[in-house]
Amino acid sequence: LIQLFRPLDLLGWVYRTIRQGLIDMADMFRLMDTEAEVEDVPGAPALVVRRPTVLFDNVSFGYEQDRQILHHLSFEAPAGSTVALVGPSGAGKSTIGRLLFRFYDPSGGRILIDGQDISQVAQESLRRAIGIVPQDSVLFNDTIGYNIAYGRDDPSQEQIVRAAADASILPFIEALPQGFDTEVGERGLKLSGGEKQRVAIARTLLKNPPILLLDEATSALDSRTEQDILSTLKRVSADRTTIAIAHRLSTIADADIINVMDAGRIVESGNHADLLRRDGLYAEMWNRQLSEADETAQAAE
Ligand code: ATP
Repeated sequence: LIQLFRPLDLLGWVYRTIRQGLIDMADMFRLMDTEAEVEDVPGAPALVVRRPTVLFDNVSFGYEQDRQILHHLSFEAPAGSTVALVGPSGAGKSTIGRLLFRFYDPSGGRILIDGQDISQVAQESLRRAIGIVPQDSVLFNDTIGYNIAYGRDDPSQEQIVRAAADASILPFIEALPQGFDTEVGERGLKLSGGEKQRVAIARTLLKNPPILLLDEATSALDSRTEQDILSTLKRVSADRTTIAIAHRLSTIADADIINVMDAGRIVESGNHADLLRRDGLYAEMWNRQLSEADETAQAAE
C-alpha cells in the first residue's frame, strides 16, 4: 500500500508545483505583456521621489488608434494628498491608473511624478514607487506569510509581522493554528473578500511606496468590513500621495480633491462640499447613490 501511495504523493507534489508555477507564470506573463507595450529609453535614469507629486499634463490616450479614450486631461495630486477619480462606467478612471503605472504611454501630453516625466525613467523604479491595492487581489497557493512577502526582496519576519499589524490582519493570522505558515488559496484556507484585501494591503505596506493607487473594491463586502477596510486604508494613505478610483462616492467623500470624469474628460473638480454646491454630475450621482442606499435599507427592513 505504501508503495502505491508514494507515486500518488509524488504526483500530488508535481501537480502542486506545476499549479503554483502556472499561477506565478500567469503573473509573469501579465508583467511581460506590459513590458512589451512600453520600453525604457536607453540609459533611462531611476525615478527619484522626494516629494511625491503626480501631475497629468494635457494627457490624451486611446487603446486603439481611431478611438480616443482620454482627451487632453489635466489634474494634479499634491504630495500627501488624496485625489479621487469618480464618474460613470467607461469614463476612463482605470485607464488613468494604467497610464500612471506605465502599462501604456499617452499619445499626447505628459505624466510627471515629482517633476520627472515617467516615460523617461526606468520602469522598474517607477513601479517600485507606486503601490496598488487592486479590486480583486490574487492569492497564491502558498502560506499567508508568502502571500504578504510576495515580490519583496527577502523581508524579515519582523517586517512581515509589522505589515500584517498595520493592515489589521495580524490578530486573524495569529489566531490560526499555524499562523503565518497557514496555507491559503484554493488548496488551503479560503479567505473572505475583506481578508484578501487586507493581505493585499499588507503586501503593499511591505513595499512602502510613496504613491498609492487604490482601485476600489466593487465586490460586495458587508458594510462593516468595508468601513474597517476604509479606516485601515485611510491610516495607510495618511502620509502618502493617494489616487483613489471609486465607484461608490461614500468611500471618497472626504478626499482632498474629487475629479469627476465623463467620457474621458474631467468635467468637475473640487471637494465634496464644493461639488454638491455646484449641483452638477457629482451632485446627481451622490443623490442617486443616497436614494439607492435608502431603498436597500428599506428592502432589508
Ligand atoms: P468602470 O467604472 O466601469 O471600471 P472606467 O471609468 O474605469 O470604468 P476604463 O476601464 O478606464 O473605464 O475604460 C475606459 C474606456 O476604455 C472604455 O470604453 C473601455 O471600453 C475602453 N477600454 C478599457 N480597456 C481597454 C483595452 N484593454 N482595450 C481597448 N479598450 C479598452
